Amino acid sequence: MKGRVLIIGAGGVGRVVAHKCASLPEVFPEIMLASRTREKCEAIARDLPRPVATAAVDAGQAANLTPLLRSYQPQLVIHVALPYQDLAIMDACLEAGVDYLDTANYEPPDTARFEYKWQWAYQERFRAAGRMAVLGSGFDPGVTSVFCAWLLKHKFDTIETIDIIDCNAGSHGLPFATNFNPEINIREVTAPGRYWQAGQWIETPPLHEHQPFEVPEGIGNLEIYLMYHEELESLAAHIPGLQRARFWMSFSANYLKHLEVLQNVGLTGIEAIDFQGQSIVPLQFLKALLPDPASLGPRTTGKTWIGCQVTGQKDGARRTHTIYNICDHQACYRETGAQAISYTTGVPAMIGAKQIVTGAWRGAGVFNMEQLDPDPFMDDLNRYGLPWKVMDGPVFAAGA
Ligand code: NDP
Repeated sequence: MKGRVLIIGAGGVGRVVAHKCASLPEVFPEIMLASRTREKCEAIARDLPRPVATAAVDAGQAANLTPLLRSYQPQLVIHVALPYQDLAIMDACLEAGVDYLDTANYEPPDTARFEYKWQWAYQERFRAAGRMAVLGSGFDPGVTSVFCAWLLKHKFDTIETIDIIDCNAGSHGLPFATNFNPEINIREVTAPGRYWQAGQWIETPPLHEHQPFEVPEGIGNLEIYLMYHEELESLAAHIPGLQRARFWMSFSANYLKHLEVLQNVGLTGIEAIDFQGQSIVPLQFLKALLPDPASLGPRTTGKTWIGCQVTGQKDGARRTHTIYNICDHQACYRETGAQAISYTTGVPAMIGAKQIVTGAWRGAGVFNMEQLDPDPFMDDLNRYGLPWKVMDGPVFAAGA
Protein backbone atom coordinates (compact mmCIF):
# COMPACT_ATOMS: atom_id res chain seq x y z
CA MET A 1 0.00 0.00 0.00
CA LYS A 2 1.25 3.48 -0.90
CA GLY A 3 2.70 5.26 2.10
CA ARG A 4 2.40 2.29 4.45
CA VAL A 5 5.72 2.04 6.32
CA LEU A 6 7.34 -0.39 8.71
CA ILE A 7 9.77 1.29 11.12
CA ILE A 8 12.28 -1.16 12.63
CA GLY A 9 14.01 -0.13 15.88
CA ALA A 10 12.47 1.42 18.99
CA GLY A 11 15.44 3.36 20.41
CA GLY A 12 15.88 7.13 20.50
CA VAL A 13 15.94 7.39 16.70
CA GLY A 14 12.94 5.08 16.24
CA ARG A 15 10.98 7.28 18.65
CA VAL A 16 11.63 10.39 16.54
CA VAL A 17 10.86 8.64 13.23
CA ALA A 18 7.59 7.33 14.66
CA HIS A 19 6.62 10.80 15.91
CA LYS A 20 7.45 12.52 12.65
CA CYS A 21 5.72 9.92 10.44
CA ALA A 22 2.67 9.87 12.71
CA SER A 23 2.35 13.63 12.34
CA LEU A 24 2.02 13.28 8.54
CA PRO A 25 -1.00 11.02 7.95
CA GLU A 26 -1.40 12.30 4.39
CA VAL A 27 2.07 10.92 3.53
CA PHE A 28 2.19 7.90 5.87
CA PRO A 29 -1.42 6.72 6.27
CA GLU A 30 -0.41 3.49 8.04
CA ILE A 31 2.57 2.83 10.29
CA MET A 32 3.90 -0.20 12.11
CA LEU A 33 6.72 0.07 14.64
CA ALA A 34 8.58 -3.22 15.15
CA SER A 35 11.63 -4.02 17.24
CA ARG A 36 13.21 -6.80 19.24
CA THR A 37 11.39 -5.72 22.39
CA ARG A 38 7.72 -5.02 21.72
CA GLU A 39 7.20 -3.12 25.01
CA LYS A 40 9.57 -0.43 23.76
CA CYS A 41 7.42 -0.04 20.62
CA GLU A 42 4.30 0.18 22.73
CA ALA A 43 5.83 2.79 25.04
CA ILE A 44 6.58 4.96 22.00
CA ALA A 45 3.18 4.26 20.43
CA ARG A 46 1.41 5.53 23.58
CA ASP A 47 2.99 8.99 23.07
CA LEU A 48 2.00 9.34 19.40
CA PRO A 49 -0.80 11.57 18.08
CA ARG A 50 -2.57 8.63 16.33
CA PRO A 51 -2.59 4.82 16.63
CA VAL A 52 0.22 2.82 15.06
CA ALA A 53 0.59 -0.97 14.97
CA THR A 54 3.46 -2.61 16.88
CA ALA A 55 5.23 -5.95 16.54
CA ALA A 56 8.16 -7.90 17.96
CA VAL A 57 10.76 -8.98 15.43
CA ASP A 58 14.40 -10.01 15.59
CA ALA A 59 15.55 -8.45 12.34
CA GLY A 60 18.98 -10.06 12.52
CA GLN A 61 17.71 -12.88 10.26
CA ALA A 62 15.81 -12.22 7.03
CA ALA A 63 13.72 -15.33 7.66
CA ASN A 64 12.27 -13.68 10.80
CA LEU A 65 11.32 -10.50 9.01
CA THR A 66 10.07 -11.68 5.62
CA PRO A 67 6.76 -13.12 6.95
CA LEU A 68 6.01 -9.82 8.73
CA LEU A 69 6.71 -7.88 5.51
CA ARG A 70 4.56 -10.27 3.49
CA SER A 71 1.62 -9.94 5.85
CA TYR A 72 1.84 -6.17 6.51
CA GLN A 73 2.87 -5.30 2.92
CA PRO A 74 4.49 -1.92 3.53
CA GLN A 75 5.79 0.17 0.66
CA LEU A 76 8.97 0.91 2.59
CA VAL A 77 11.03 -0.29 5.57
CA ILE A 78 12.64 2.51 7.59
CA HIS A 79 15.47 0.68 9.36
CA VAL A 80 16.62 2.49 12.51
CA ALA A 81 17.67 -0.53 14.57
CA LEU A 82 21.42 -1.30 14.42
CA PRO A 83 23.85 -1.50 11.48
CA TYR A 84 24.37 -5.23 12.14
CA GLN A 85 20.89 -5.90 10.72
CA ASP A 86 21.30 -3.95 7.44
CA LEU A 87 21.96 -6.94 5.18
CA ALA A 88 19.30 -9.19 6.68
CA ILE A 89 16.73 -6.41 6.30
CA MET A 90 17.82 -5.72 2.71
CA ASP A 91 17.45 -9.45 1.96
CA ALA A 92 13.96 -9.50 3.47
CA CYS A 93 12.95 -6.37 1.50
CA LEU A 94 14.05 -8.04 -1.75
CA GLU A 95 12.14 -11.19 -0.92
CA ALA A 96 8.96 -9.32 -0.05
CA GLY A 97 9.26 -6.61 -2.75
CA VAL A 98 9.62 -3.61 -0.41
CA ASP A 99 11.77 -0.45 -0.64
CA TYR A 100 14.48 0.07 1.99
CA LEU A 101 16.00 3.03 3.86
CA ASP A 102 18.56 3.13 6.71
CA THR A 103 20.75 5.60 8.62
CA ALA A 104 24.01 3.68 9.12
CA ASN A 105 26.08 1.39 6.93
CA TYR A 106 26.51 -2.30 7.58
CA GLU A 107 29.16 -3.37 10.05
CA PRO A 108 30.11 -6.97 10.75
CA PRO A 109 29.76 -7.45 14.53
CA ASP A 110 33.29 -8.86 14.91
CA THR A 111 35.23 -6.07 13.12
CA ALA A 112 34.65 -2.33 13.43
CA ARG A 113 34.83 -1.58 9.68
CA PHE A 114 32.62 1.10 8.26
CA GLU A 115 32.38 0.31 4.57
CA TYR A 116 29.68 0.43 1.94
CA LYS A 117 31.01 -2.54 -0.01
CA TRP A 118 28.59 -5.02 1.54
CA GLN A 119 25.55 -2.87 0.77
CA TRP A 120 26.78 -1.66 -2.63
CA ALA A 121 26.99 -5.35 -3.55
CA TYR A 122 23.14 -5.36 -3.54
CA GLN A 123 23.04 -2.92 -6.49
CA GLU A 124 22.13 -5.46 -9.17
CA ARG A 125 19.59 -7.30 -7.04
CA PHE A 126 17.67 -4.12 -6.16
CA ARG A 127 17.89 -2.96 -9.80
CA ALA A 128 16.60 -6.27 -11.12
CA ALA A 129 13.77 -6.28 -8.58
CA GLY A 130 12.81 -2.68 -9.48
CA ARG A 131 13.14 -1.66 -5.81
CA MET A 132 14.89 1.30 -4.25
CA ALA A 133 17.35 1.17 -1.35
CA VAL A 134 18.47 4.51 0.11
CA LEU A 135 21.50 4.30 2.39
CA GLY A 136 22.39 6.64 5.23
CA SER A 137 19.38 8.96 5.60
CA GLY A 138 20.31 10.34 9.04
CA PHE A 139 22.22 13.58 9.65
CA ASP A 140 25.75 12.33 9.16
CA PRO A 141 25.58 10.39 6.94
CA GLY A 142 22.49 11.84 5.38
CA VAL A 143 21.91 15.57 5.58
CA THR A 144 25.66 16.21 5.25
CA SER A 145 25.66 14.36 1.90
CA VAL A 146 22.55 16.24 0.74
CA PHE A 147 24.20 19.55 1.79
CA CYS A 148 27.13 18.70 -0.50
CA ALA A 149 24.83 17.71 -3.37
CA TRP A 150 22.85 20.95 -2.95
CA LEU A 151 26.01 23.08 -2.95
CA LEU A 152 27.23 21.28 -6.08
CA LYS A 153 23.88 21.88 -7.78
CA HIS A 154 23.44 25.55 -6.82
CA LYS A 155 26.75 27.09 -5.76
CA PHE A 156 29.66 25.34 -7.49
CA ASP A 157 30.72 24.02 -10.88
CA THR A 158 33.08 21.59 -9.15
CA ILE A 159 33.80 20.75 -5.51
CA GLU A 160 37.41 20.40 -4.37
CA THR A 161 37.32 19.97 -0.59
CA ILE A 162 34.70 19.01 1.98
CA ASP A 163 35.06 19.34 5.75
CA ILE A 164 32.11 17.94 7.69
CA ILE A 165 31.98 19.27 11.24
CA ASP A 166 29.70 17.71 13.86
CA CYS A 167 29.52 19.62 17.14
CA ASN A 168 27.49 18.86 20.20
CA ALA A 169 27.63 21.72 22.69
CA GLY A 170 24.96 20.01 24.79
CA SER A 171 25.27 18.60 28.28
CA HIS A 172 23.43 15.74 30.00
CA GLY A 173 25.11 16.26 33.37
CA LEU A 174 26.17 12.63 33.71
CA PRO A 175 29.82 11.60 34.17
CA PHE A 176 29.79 9.51 30.95
CA ALA A 177 27.09 8.61 28.45
CA THR A 178 26.90 8.32 24.68
CA ASN A 179 24.10 10.10 22.88
CA PHE A 180 23.35 7.27 20.49
CA ASN A 181 23.77 3.51 20.78
CA PRO A 182 26.91 3.17 23.01
CA GLU A 183 28.29 0.15 21.19
CA ILE A 184 28.12 1.75 17.73
CA ASN A 185 29.30 5.11 19.08
CA ILE A 186 32.37 3.74 20.86
CA ARG A 187 33.33 1.49 17.92
CA GLU A 188 33.23 4.57 15.68
CA VAL A 189 35.16 6.88 17.99
CA THR A 190 37.94 4.42 18.85
CA ALA A 191 38.59 3.47 15.19
CA PRO A 192 41.61 5.02 13.39
CA GLY A 193 41.02 8.38 11.72
CA ARG A 194 40.94 8.35 7.93
CA TYR A 195 40.41 10.97 5.27
CA TRP A 196 40.39 11.17 1.50
CA GLN A 197 43.14 13.15 -0.20
CA ALA A 198 44.37 13.22 -3.79
CA GLY A 199 42.77 9.91 -4.67
CA GLN A 200 43.83 7.92 -1.63
CA TRP A 201 42.94 7.29 2.00
CA ILE A 202 45.27 8.74 4.65
CA GLU A 203 45.08 6.97 8.00
CA THR A 204 45.79 8.65 11.35
CA PRO A 205 45.81 7.22 14.90
CA PRO A 206 42.40 7.46 16.65
CA LEU A 207 41.54 11.06 17.61
CA HIS A 208 45.12 12.13 16.90
CA GLU A 209 44.46 15.29 14.89
CA HIS A 210 42.41 17.98 16.53
CA GLN A 211 41.94 21.72 16.65
CA PRO A 212 39.84 24.31 18.46
CA PHE A 213 36.65 25.40 16.74
CA GLU A 214 34.60 28.45 17.56
CA VAL A 215 31.12 27.27 16.75
CA PRO A 216 29.19 29.99 14.85
CA GLU A 217 26.29 31.90 16.41
CA GLY A 218 27.90 31.90 19.87
CA ILE A 219 27.29 28.21 20.50
CA GLY A 220 30.66 27.72 22.13
CA ASN A 221 34.35 26.94 21.77
CA LEU A 222 34.87 23.22 21.24
CA GLU A 223 37.76 20.96 20.34
CA ILE A 224 37.08 19.02 17.13
CA TYR A 225 38.79 15.72 16.28
CA LEU A 226 39.44 14.18 12.89
CA MET A 227 37.64 10.85 12.53
CA TYR A 228 36.65 8.45 9.82
CA HIS A 229 32.97 8.60 8.96
CA GLU A 230 31.14 6.53 6.42
CA GLU A 231 29.86 9.32 4.15
CA LEU A 232 33.48 10.11 3.23
CA GLU A 233 33.56 6.87 1.23
CA SER A 234 30.40 7.57 -0.75
CA LEU A 235 31.22 11.27 -1.29
CA ALA A 236 34.67 10.30 -2.62
CA ALA A 237 32.95 7.89 -5.02
CA HIS A 238 30.17 10.22 -6.16
CA ILE A 239 31.47 13.83 -6.14
CA PRO A 240 33.52 14.16 -9.34
CA GLY A 241 36.97 15.70 -8.91
CA LEU A 242 36.85 15.75 -5.10
CA GLN A 243 40.39 16.34 -3.84
CA ARG A 244 39.94 16.08 -0.08
CA ALA A 245 37.16 15.02 2.29
CA ARG A 246 37.46 15.03 6.07
CA PHE A 247 35.16 14.58 9.03
CA TRP A 248 35.52 16.30 12.42
CA MET A 249 33.56 15.72 15.61
CA SER A 250 33.63 17.61 18.91
CA PHE A 251 34.33 15.82 22.18
CA SER A 252 34.61 17.21 25.68
CA ALA A 253 37.76 16.60 27.70
CA ASN A 254 35.58 14.71 30.19
CA TYR A 255 34.22 12.30 27.54
CA LEU A 256 37.74 11.61 26.25
CA LYS A 257 39.13 11.07 29.76
CA HIS A 258 36.50 8.42 30.50
CA LEU A 259 36.92 6.82 27.09
CA GLU A 260 40.67 6.56 27.59
CA VAL A 261 40.27 4.80 30.92
CA LEU A 262 37.64 2.44 29.55
CA GLN A 263 39.94 1.60 26.65
CA ASN A 264 42.97 1.15 28.90
CA VAL A 265 41.14 -1.37 31.07
CA GLY A 266 39.86 -3.24 28.00
CA LEU A 267 36.17 -2.44 28.32
CA THR A 268 35.84 -1.16 24.75
CA GLY A 269 37.10 -4.40 23.18
CA ILE A 270 34.86 -6.16 20.65
CA GLU A 271 36.42 -9.60 20.86
CA ALA A 272 34.67 -12.09 23.13
CA ILE A 273 36.43 -13.08 26.33
CA ASP A 274 35.72 -15.93 28.70
CA PHE A 275 34.25 -14.74 32.02
CA GLN A 276 33.47 -17.42 34.56
CA GLY A 277 32.71 -19.91 31.82
CA GLN A 278 30.60 -17.46 29.85
CA SER A 279 31.62 -15.75 26.63
CA ILE A 280 31.11 -11.99 26.83
CA VAL A 281 32.07 -9.08 24.56
CA PRO A 282 33.50 -6.32 26.82
CA LEU A 283 31.88 -3.50 24.81
CA GLN A 284 28.46 -5.17 24.99
CA PHE A 285 28.90 -5.51 28.76
CA LEU A 286 29.86 -1.83 28.97
CA LYS A 287 26.74 -0.94 26.96
CA ALA A 288 24.64 -2.71 29.57
CA LEU A 289 26.20 -0.49 32.27
CA LEU A 290 25.93 2.83 30.46
CA PRO A 291 22.81 5.01 30.40
CA ASP A 292 20.34 4.21 27.64
CA PRO A 293 20.70 7.12 25.17
CA ALA A 294 16.91 7.19 24.85
CA SER A 295 16.79 8.20 28.56
CA LEU A 296 18.94 11.32 28.06
CA GLY A 297 16.15 13.43 26.55
CA PRO A 298 14.83 15.09 29.70
CA ARG A 299 18.28 16.00 31.05
CA THR A 300 20.12 17.17 27.93
CA THR A 301 20.39 20.94 27.39
CA GLY A 302 22.30 23.06 24.88
CA LYS A 303 22.62 22.85 21.11
CA THR A 304 24.10 20.87 18.26
CA TRP A 305 25.74 22.45 15.22
CA ILE A 306 26.41 20.21 12.23
CA GLY A 307 27.63 21.57 8.95
CA CYS A 308 29.82 21.26 5.88
CA GLN A 309 32.54 23.68 4.84
CA VAL A 310 33.02 23.21 1.12
CA THR A 311 35.50 24.75 -1.30
CA GLY A 312 35.28 24.60 -5.07
CA GLN A 313 35.17 26.47 -8.34
CA LYS A 314 32.37 28.69 -9.64
CA ASP A 315 32.71 30.58 -12.92
CA GLY A 316 36.49 30.23 -12.78
CA ALA A 317 36.88 31.52 -9.21
CA ARG A 318 37.66 29.55 -6.04
CA ARG A 319 34.96 29.90 -3.39
CA THR A 320 34.08 28.53 0.02
CA HIS A 321 30.59 28.08 1.43
CA THR A 322 29.48 26.76 4.79
CA ILE A 323 26.06 25.18 5.26
CA TYR A 324 24.72 24.10 8.64
CA ASN A 325 21.87 23.34 11.00
CA ILE A 326 21.53 24.22 14.67
CA CYS A 327 19.32 22.10 16.87
CA ASP A 328 18.25 22.63 20.49
CA HIS A 329 18.15 19.52 22.70
CA GLN A 330 15.27 20.71 24.87
CA ALA A 331 13.14 21.82 21.91
CA CYS A 332 13.58 18.33 20.41
CA TYR A 333 12.63 16.76 23.72
CA ARG A 334 9.49 18.85 24.05
CA GLU A 335 8.39 17.82 20.56
CA THR A 336 9.28 14.11 20.51
CA GLY A 337 10.60 13.02 23.92
CA ALA A 338 14.13 12.57 22.50
CA GLN A 339 17.33 14.67 22.56
CA ALA A 340 18.83 16.37 19.51
CA ILE A 341 21.14 13.51 18.41
CA SER A 342 18.16 11.18 18.00
CA TYR A 343 16.14 14.05 16.50
CA THR A 344 18.74 15.07 13.93
CA THR A 345 18.89 11.40 12.82
CA GLY A 346 15.18 10.58 12.93
CA VAL A 347 13.87 13.66 11.12
CA PRO A 348 16.05 13.04 8.00
CA ALA A 349 15.01 9.37 8.07
CA MET A 350 11.36 10.48 7.88
CA ILE A 351 12.18 13.05 5.17
CA GLY A 352 14.06 10.46 3.07
CA ALA A 353 11.12 8.08 3.51
CA LYS A 354 8.75 10.85 2.39
CA GLN A 355 10.72 11.36 -0.84
CA ILE A 356 10.47 7.64 -1.59
CA VAL A 357 6.80 7.12 -0.80
CA THR A 358 5.69 10.26 -2.65
CA GLY A 359 7.85 9.42 -5.67
CA ALA A 360 9.99 12.58 -5.40
CA TRP A 361 12.90 10.13 -5.32
CA ARG A 362 12.45 7.14 -7.56
CA GLY A 363 14.90 4.64 -8.97
CA ALA A 364 15.76 0.98 -8.97
CA GLY A 365 18.99 0.10 -7.20
CA VAL A 366 21.05 1.14 -4.19
CA PHE A 367 21.57 4.89 -3.70
CA ASN A 368 23.57 7.10 -1.39
CA MET A 369 22.01 10.40 -0.46
CA GLU A 370 24.27 12.63 -2.59
CA GLN A 371 23.11 10.77 -5.72
CA LEU A 372 19.51 11.95 -5.33
CA ASP A 373 17.92 15.34 -6.07
CA PRO A 374 18.72 17.48 -2.99
CA ASP A 375 16.01 20.12 -3.55
CA PRO A 376 12.85 18.45 -2.18
CA PHE A 377 14.82 17.07 0.77
CA MET A 378 16.31 20.51 1.58
CA ASP A 379 12.84 22.10 1.43
CA ASP A 380 11.55 19.46 3.83
CA LEU A 381 14.41 20.04 6.28
CA ASN A 382 13.13 23.60 6.66
CA ARG A 383 9.54 22.40 6.91
CA TYR A 384 9.96 19.59 9.43
CA GLY A 385 12.29 20.88 12.12
CA LEU A 386 15.87 21.06 10.81
CA PRO A 387 16.20 24.52 9.20
CA TRP A 388 19.55 25.21 7.55
CA LYS A 389 21.60 28.25 6.68
CA VAL A 390 24.24 28.76 4.01
CA MET A 391 26.94 31.42 4.31
CA ASP A 392 29.78 32.57 2.12
CA GLY A 393 33.24 31.80 3.45
CA PRO A 394 34.84 29.38 5.89
CA VAL A 395 34.11 28.77 9.57
CA PHE A 396 37.54 27.33 10.38
CA ALA A 397 41.05 27.19 8.98
CA ALA A 398 40.91 24.03 6.92
CA GLY A 399 44.55 24.26 5.75
CA ALA A 400 45.72 24.11 2.16
P1 NDP B 1 19.32 2.43 20.24
O1 NDP B 1 20.32 1.47 20.71
O2 NDP B 1 18.72 3.42 21.18
O3 NDP B 1 18.08 1.62 19.59
C1 NDP B 1 18.27 0.55 18.73
C2 NDP B 1 16.95 -0.20 18.62
O4 NDP B 1 17.14 -1.30 17.72
C3 NDP B 1 16.47 -0.80 19.95
O5 NDP B 1 15.07 -0.64 20.03
C4 NDP B 1 16.84 -2.28 19.79
O6 NDP B 1 16.00 -3.16 20.48
C5 NDP B 1 16.62 -2.47 18.31
N1 NDP B 1 17.31 -3.66 17.84
C6 NDP B 1 18.59 -4.04 18.08
N2 NDP B 1 18.85 -5.22 17.51
C7 NDP B 1 17.70 -5.59 16.89
C8 NDP B 1 17.33 -6.73 16.13
N3 NDP B 1 18.18 -7.73 15.89
N4 NDP B 1 16.07 -6.78 15.63
C9 NDP B 1 15.17 -5.79 15.88
N5 NDP B 1 15.47 -4.71 16.60
C10 NDP B 1 16.72 -4.61 17.10
O7 NDP B 1 19.96 3.17 18.98
P2 NDP B 1 19.63 4.62 18.41
O8 NDP B 1 18.15 4.78 18.31
O9 NDP B 1 20.43 5.61 19.14
O10 NDP B 1 20.26 4.50 16.93
C11 NDP B 1 19.58 3.78 15.92
C12 NDP B 1 20.40 3.75 14.64
O11 NDP B 1 20.66 5.07 14.18
C13 NDP B 1 21.78 3.07 14.79
O12 NDP B 1 21.99 2.25 13.66
C14 NDP B 1 22.75 4.22 14.73
O13 NDP B 1 23.99 3.83 14.20
C15 NDP B 1 22.03 5.16 13.78
N6 NDP B 1 22.46 6.55 13.92
C16 NDP B 1 22.72 7.26 12.77
C17 NDP B 1 23.11 8.58 12.84
C18 NDP B 1 23.24 9.39 11.60
O14 NDP B 1 23.32 10.61 11.70
N7 NDP B 1 23.28 8.82 10.40
C19 NDP B 1 23.37 9.24 14.13
C20 NDP B 1 22.97 8.45 15.29
C21 NDP B 1 22.57 7.14 15.17
P3 NDP B 1 16.34 -3.63 22.00
O15 NDP B 1 16.13 -2.44 22.83
O16 NDP B 1 15.38 -4.72 22.27
O17 NDP B 1 17.78 -4.09 21.98
